[in-house]
Amino acid sequence: MPLQITLPNQSDSTTPGRVVGIDLGTTNSLVAYVDQGVPKVIAGADGGIVPSVVTLDDNGNVVAVGVKAKKHALVDAAHTVYSVKRLMGKSFQDVKKESGLLAYRLAQADEGLVRVQIGKKLFTPIELSAFVLKELKKRAEDFFGETVTKAVITVPAYFNDAQRHATKDAGRLAGLEVLRIVNEPTAASLAYGLDKSKQGIIAVYDLGGGTFDISILKLSNGVFEVLSTNGDTYLGGDDIDRRLMELFITQIKHMEPAFEPNGEQLQQIRNVAESAKIELSTKPSVMIALDIPQANVAYRRNLTRTELETITRSIVERTRIPCEMAIKDALIDVDEIDEVVLVGGSTRMPAVRSLVQQIFKRKPHDELNPDETVALGAAIQANVLAGETKDVLLLDVTPLSLGIETIGGMMSTIIPRNTTLPTKATETYTTFVDNQTGVEINVYQGERDFVRDNRKLAEFTLKGIPPLPAGAAKFEVSFLIDADGILHVSAKEVHTGIAHEVEVKPSYGLTEEEIERMLRESVVYASQDIGERRLAEAKTEGQRILAATEKVLGQLRRGEIVITPQRLQSLNVAAVIDALYALRRVVQSEDAEAINNQVTALEQATEPLAQEIMNASVSEVLEGKNVAEIST
Ligand code: AMP
Repeated sequence: MPLQITLPNQSDSTTPGRVVGIDLGTTNSLVAYVDQGVPKVIAGADGGIVPSVVTLDDNGNVVAVGVKAKKHALVDAAHTVYSVKRLMGKSFQDVKKESGLLAYRLAQADEGLVRVQIGKKLFTPIELSAFVLKELKKRAEDFFGETVTKAVITVPAYFNDAQRHATKDAGRLAGLEVLRIVNEPTAASLAYGLDKSKQGIIAVYDLGGGTFDISILKLSNGVFEVLSTNGDTYLGGDDIDRRLMELFITQIKHMEPAFEPNGEQLQQIRNVAESAKIELSTKPSVMIALDIPQANVAYRRNLTRTELETITRSIVERTRIPCEMAIKDALIDVDEIDEVVLVGGSTRMPAVRSLVQQIFKRKPHDELNPDETVALGAAIQANVLAGETKDVLLLDVTPLSLGIETIGGMMSTIIPRNTTLPTKATETYTTFVDNQTGVEINVYQGERDFVRDNRKLAEFTLKGIPPLPAGAAKFEVSFLIDADGILHVSAKEVHTGIAHEVEVKPSYGLTEEEIERMLRESVVYASQDIGERRLAEAKTEGQRILAATEKVLGQLRRGEIVITPQRLQSLNVAAVIDALYALRRVVQSEDAEAINNQVTALEQATEPLAQEIMNASVSEVLEGKNVAEIST
């Protein structure tokens, strides 16, 4: 069941109004607009960045959002929510293991969804994101002196259907009509105006506070396409801060062995560590001063950039493999990359920049403020959608293959992974059982051959199929993924035109780790799967044709199908029986090739007979009946 949300009245969204661009980040968020062709971040009294942090009281009232909420974390960690982007579109099960890393409480709601517990109140990640979005909306409204109701919001390129949905829902809950969900790397490329050159390959290296994303984009004739994405959902500036904190705490404990920092003290140490790290991006050394009088701590030390780089080298290095994998996945050579773009506050670290230059063999773009790049690009796209500029067309890709379950628990892919969006694809399927009047359609996402290894997105039943022999009824399943990456599925019975349509509101259940694992496993298990799949397919097909042939022979024997003796002779029933017995002998074996050979032999033998019977029964069933009669 999809998450039900009561949306605010959006009647004012019909006023023309402005469209703003929003970077809704894990750590920080920003809102931007285009001022006479130039994208600009809208700053409040405390700067352009709104930390994605919300403080609530026990009654569920919002106490503070952004910079003020971040300060609250120091004194009231249990009421302050951060990193909520990590929870978007997730089930409780997905994020359970993370709960130890968060200072606030996670709870499980009905249908396994995750909630954040503040006092006695439970909040959905969507509601919490909406608080941040409302703050950004308000900031824009204060700046323009008018209501703002339309926005473009960016998401990581790998965000799945559930996560995109959740982001869109959060926008709507904040009173924003989300005109488009745009991939962050695409927005970053727009910000650098890379769309102006007609073609090229762009690598976007995004190292923020808590996540690392690398995306390879291809630009051709002014159209962006995401060739590949990779990354690490738990890698970023926070890890560097943590390493510094560990160093500080170890050294403090040398002097004060009883020192056990509580939640607030940890936050204080984290702030000192982060400030030191930031200063060291521009200075060779910094003085650390950490005072915790209650614990008798007055810690002082000098820290050099070289020291910082030494203790954090392994963290920065962890971005190398995802980059190399993304290049491989994009089926390109590193030399083919024309531009490299830096995104995310952590790319200000000189060590990060030199690693990027080393990996991509070229100097990355760093002219823009890396915190603002994505928001600026979102503003450019917002401006396009507001009708101000018309020359940018955005295309993204679907991160995982989408398909339906077919007999034997197999995945029948309809839209392969990395297909450019928007896209539409249709496959035709047949019924498996005689007189089947309904088919259950199970929609899956993933790369493995068997659906049990993939992730279920939705299920629905197509009813009203005319009762026909197995294989005679045909139904088409169409998948449409819109420009926001949201999937719409429809199924239609070919003869009658009876259709069923659903927008897939997935259960919020797949983590990025799962996506990564599924992608990895699809490579590791590929050869094993192929063998298993071939055998399962062969057996299913063998059984299907055996059952169909036995049934027809029974009907012929009982006189339920009447065929003249001369005609029967030309249909060569003896050859059909021989082939039937030959297939029966091998169908339970483990030899896919032998089964397939006998299936082919039986198919050839029954071809004239099957054709005759199928034609007769299709016309008999459909003759003189209208659609309504057939569907009842
Ligand atoms: P983002 O998620 O892109 O907003 O990036 C936030 C991360 O960038 C945090 O870990 C910050 O500590 C880090 N950051 C911001 N400015 C700098 C800087 N000058 N040097 C190093 N890290 C920085």
